Amino acid sequence: MGFLRSRSAVTPLRRVGLNSATVNAVSLSSGRRSSVVQAVALHRPEEPMHCIRPGVLADTASSFLSAFAEATDAVARGGDVLYAVKCNPEPAVLRALWAGGLRHFDVASPGEIRLIRQMFPDAVLHYMHPVKGRQAIRNAYHQYGVRDFVLDSREELAKILEETDNAADLGLVVRLALPKGNAVYDLSGKFGAAMADAVELLRDVRAAAPKVGLSFHVGSQMLDPSAYERAITLAGRVIAEAGVAIDVLDVGGGFPVSYPGVTPPPLGDFMAAIARGIKALDLPESCRLWCEPGRALVAPGVSLVVQVVKRRGDELFINDGVYGALSDAGVPGFRFPARLIRPFEVMTDAADAAFSFYGPTCDSADKMNGPFHLPADVKAGDWIELGQLGAYGSCLRTAFNGFDQARVVEVSDAPLLATPGYVLRSCAA
Ligand SMILES: *Cc1c(COP(=O)(O)O)cnc(C)c1O
Repeated sequence: MGFLRSRSAVTPLRRVGLNSATVNAVSLSSGRRSSVVQAVALHRPEEPMHCIRPGVLADTASSFLSAFAEATDAVARGGDVLYAVKCNPEPAVLRALWAGGLRHFDVASPGEIRLIRQMFPDAVLHYMHPVKGRQAIRNAYHQYGVRDFVLDSREELAKILEETDNAADLGLVVRLALPKGNAVYDLSGKFGAAMADAVELLRDVRAAAPKVGLSFHVGSQMLDPSAYERAITLAGRVIAEAGVAIDVLDVGGGFPVSYPGVTPPPLGDFMAAIARGIKALDLPESCRLWCEPGRALVAPGVSLVVQVVKRRGDELFINDGVYGALSDAGVPGFRFPARLIRPFEVMTDAADAAFSFYGPTCDSADKMNGPFHLPADVKAGDWIELGQLGAYGSCLRTAFNGFDQARVVEVSDAPLLATPGYVLRSCAA
């Protein structure tokens, strides 16, 4: 007893000597094009290798920012894009998003607040977790300059007012619960006030803060643009019933990306649905629009390179798994685009076959059914690039069973899959 130490779960990703001359060959900072294949040839990694594409991340952010600005300017109010930091807090990723023009961050914990404030003194932080600790609220306001807080209950409102000493400059955003929708990840169960409660809360916060907002989240990887329009309509009903003017309508995150066999409607369709929903409401001219994308901004910007340790029929034992960066490939059943990398041998013209993966830990639950499509002659020692892993990948790693090492490099080739509506200038031939 008495030895209470707090420590983080995972050894940080090892950035392979970004300062050394060798690594400049695979780093964007050299100004030269570099690819995942070159990085594999150089490092022959036996540990999982995270390949960050800063150019793609910056292009993705700037595409999204332009699309949202266009949609919100069309309804004459303007908007802010808040990056949901939980999706990927890797500093190289954050710097790339910043380079793409992103300035607002949806933060949910003291750790995220500290990280973003340290990296970007000028960033605007929005504390979008509806259930916060008292000390966390106090520090966010007094130490880190956070002014916007989300809430979905009276208790949380009282807590925020107490811990900020009844500050006169708060932005308070009420999170509205949505009926169960059709997103791949439904988020309706955990947070959000029911309609009648949201009406009451809106009136309460209007009396307490100079800036008042309403927010919702349609669920992650939402493939149906009309879900945003329906949610905005519902929000409109809450606002009308409350009879208060609002300053912010926050349409949340959930914007989808491509996965094998899944091509979402183009980004513009989502923006058009949002604009249609807003137009139908009678919002004050000064009301700003926010959104909180996570996955859409970062998924395409990071690939994971794994090595095949053993092949058993159509099962591949690889060096990363559900306790590493491939959590979503486990029970959630996500499939990722896969490409065989064999830098030291001539590639054969073997046809593709379907494979499942086992991760490196001794837990039989460390299994990924895929199917992942790879050339039929894939064998131990081969490397595989798995794409679209910038979102909810590296940040979910654990140190379970001692498999906590991974390295990170920066590359500038194109991602394995494109998502419609994004312009990736850095990859243009
Ligand atoms: C996770 C989360 C997001 C991001 O969701 P994506 O589906 O990754 O876009 C946005 N807002 C809140 C409140 C979240 O919890």
